[in-house]
Amino acid sequence: MAGDPEVEAAEGRGIRSVLTMGSLVSASGNEVHFAEIEGKIIGIYFAANWYPKCEAFTPVLAAAYHHLKERGVGFEVVLVSCDEDRPSFERFHRTMPWPAVPFGDLQCKKSLSERFQVEGIPRLVVLAPDGEVIHADAADLVHRYGERAFPFTASRVAELEADDERKYASQTLEKLFSIDGRGYVNGGKEQVPISSLVGKTVGLYFSAHGCAPCIKFTAKLAAIYNNLKGKAEDFEIVYIPMDKEEDGYLQSCSDMPWLALPYDGAPSRELARYFNVQEIPTLVVVGPDGKTVTRDGRNLVNLYFDMAFPFTEEQIRLLQEMEDEDAKGYPQSLRHSGHRHELSIVSEKSGGGPYICCECDEQGLGWAYQCIACGYEIHLRCGRNAEGGSAGTG
Ligand SMILES: [Zn+2]
Ligand SMILES: [Zn+2]
Repeated sequence: MAGDPEVEAAEGRGIRSVLTMGSLVSASGNEVHFAEIEGKIIGIYFAANWYPKCEAFTPVLAAAYHHLKERGVGFEVVLVSCDEDRPSFERFHRTMPWPAVPFGDLQCKKSLSERFQVEGIPRLVVLAPDGEVIHADAADLVHRYGERAFPFTASRVAELEADDERKYASQTLEKLFSIDGRGYVNGGKEQVPISSLVGKTVGLYFSAHGCAPCIKFTAKLAAIYNNLKGKAEDFEIVYIPMDKEEDGYLQSCSDMPWLALPYDGAPSRELARYFNVQEIPTLVVVGPDGKTVTRDGRNLVNLYFDMAFPFTEEQIRLLQEMEDEDAKGYPQSLRHSGHRHELSIVSEKSGGGPYICCECDEQGLGWAYQCIACGYEIHLRCGRNAEGGSAGTG
């Protein structure tokens, strides 16, 4: 009998060779038969309710899922919960429109985690109807492209990426902001036409009111913004609100000295998706020609402050060369009051990488004083400035 779950399981064919449990459970607690998901492309969704990234990803996946259902596409998701207790699992599952591996089926959950070598969540393993893996982790794709990512094959991904490249190549400020058809952004009480920003370096600042890393970064960015404005640089910033509430948005606008996209979730979400923004704060920098200069503005601001302007590769290379030159004036090793071992100077070429300075808590890159045994690293300048810092023998 075709499609008989018992027979297929016995033969170990298709999806039943992967999902070996007796049955699935719906969000309302009912049994879901395998016949309902067989023949479809299946996303095995590993997630846990206590993990913020899963909480954020679930609605994104659900939106794509609903779109695909409306289109009548053969797609199904099966939750494999990493929750520790049944009430958490049930609460989490109720936020989802798809079935799950029953909470008590520990053997099955364990064997699926092992089979797909699940180390981080959220993870979305996409399987063909025959049980073959189409994509080992499509979570990023869903974040980025939503339902357009279906059916998650290599050729579909190549198509989407080529599409992006075409869009990026013809990108202009007007096109970026024409999503909402308004053609202006808010500047205090007035409306500022997008056309007046053309020819400037423009930072698109994705942020939200009340998010702790945003608060810290906003303060730093505001200082830099005011500096650059003081120097009459052609620089502007537009707040792209990731706020869930308008109150938060209004508060942000009054806290920030720059322009803001009007409050309306859709254009902000569209821009976030277009630039593949996955965390906030994010600073995307668009150049005077309307093309993207960098999506890594946040790091560049943290590393170089207003020296990063205009954020081009050329400017960053220049800054790195200056640092290399500057480093020649520092001793090869030193003792620092913050650490009991001697610290040695390292560069990007000799084992230095991105780090958080143990002295000032700010980001660093490349040049550092390091105790490799303890993973203790500080900026060169923090080694020099700190009291107790003294030159070693070199
Ligand atoms: Zn430091
Ligand atoms: Zn040490």
